[in-house]
Amino acid sequence: MNEKLLQKIKKVTPYIPGEQPKTNRIIKLNTNEHAYPPSPSVLEAYKSFDPATLRKYPDSDSNSLNQSIADHYGLEKSQVFSGNGSDEVLALAFLTYFQSDLPVLFSDITYSFYKVWCALYDIPYELVPLADDFTINAADYNRPNGGVIIANPNAPTSIGMELCHIEEIIKNNRESVVIVDEAYVDFGGVSALPLLDKYENLLVVHTFSKFRSLAGLRIGYAMGSSQLIAYLSHVKNAFNSYPLDSIQQAMATAALMDKAYYLERAAIITKTRESFAAQLAELGFQTLDSQANFVFTTHKKHPAKAIYEYLKEQNIFVRYFDADRISNHLRITIGTDEEMASLLSALKNFL
Ligand SMILES: *Cc1c(COP(=O)(O)O)cnc(C)c1O
Repeated sequence: MNEKLLQKIKKVTPYIPGEQPKTNRIIKLNTNEHAYPPSPSVLEAYKSFDPATLRKYPDSDSNSLNQSIADHYGLEKSQVFSGNGSDEVLALAFLTYFQSDLPVLFSDITYSFYKVWCALYDIPYELVPLADDFTINAADYNRPNGGVIIANPNAPTSIGMELCHIEEIIKNNRESVVIVDEAYVDFGGVSALPLLDKYENLLVVHTFSKFRSLAGLRIGYAMGSSQLIAYLSHVKNAFNSYPLDSIQQAMATAALMDKAYYLERAAIITKTRESFAAQLAELGFQTLDSQANFVFTTHKKHPAKAIYEYLKEQNIFVRYFDADRISNHLRITIGTDEEMASLLSALKNFL
């Protein structure tokens, strides 16, 4: 391409999602998908969906879904916004709330998409280093900023924050929007939702991809004060009025009806996680205390990259990040007991 032409084109370094292998004969523990299928109510909604209705545009504001989400959490419908995956919700939230020359603050080790959106929109940012034990120190967020985003529990570390520390960050930054990305909160974390009554600068973002086992459907949502949500809706309507199709809206609404099913599945995953972590310890791994459906672990002797590559040859996919401070760790999704047993036996062969 000629230089002048090239100059007019936006260049970004994209986010790289975990690999989606083409074959089924693998054990996939690299993108934190749910170990079990979505709830029976979702399968029912799928079967009873009438494709003839696809002739019409969907409800542009996902009213029925947003009402169900609001009812689920005891909020007003005007406090809920939904989008095509929490990635889209977050991308729109960055665009809406981070309009400042001051840097947006987030951890040096966190969801790597945050940096990508800052680059996409030319938002200045400052990385706040995690402590040596990979915990977040709330006091580090006490400095001038254009906004704050915290993943809680954090990814890929799996560590959750206490509510009082989250509140400290929100309280100390009343002139900025503080986004708490709670993608994994239902696997043992503590939600900031009870703080919505107190703070107009708080936005809590959730997804249907992890706890509700609907990663393939692409639905996420944000909750905040009615005013904050209204600004987000305006930006959405300036970009794409119909981010959620009618199938997504129907299925997600159905998923909210099966609370008991999802709580039971999450309890099973938590139990698998604890026994898996104990068995990893016997093999010489050090694993961070997880409040999510994955663990973050490092081996005392063997480099993470070598383990990752060996497992891949065995058709077992885990996540390896070639990044500062974490290049000797592996992020492993908690699958079924059988999948974790296969992984452990592969590890025993390797070590
Ligand atoms: C998985 C994940 C998301 C994205 O979820 P989608 O709703 O599938 O787009 C956002 N934030 C974190 C921290 C995640 O792990």
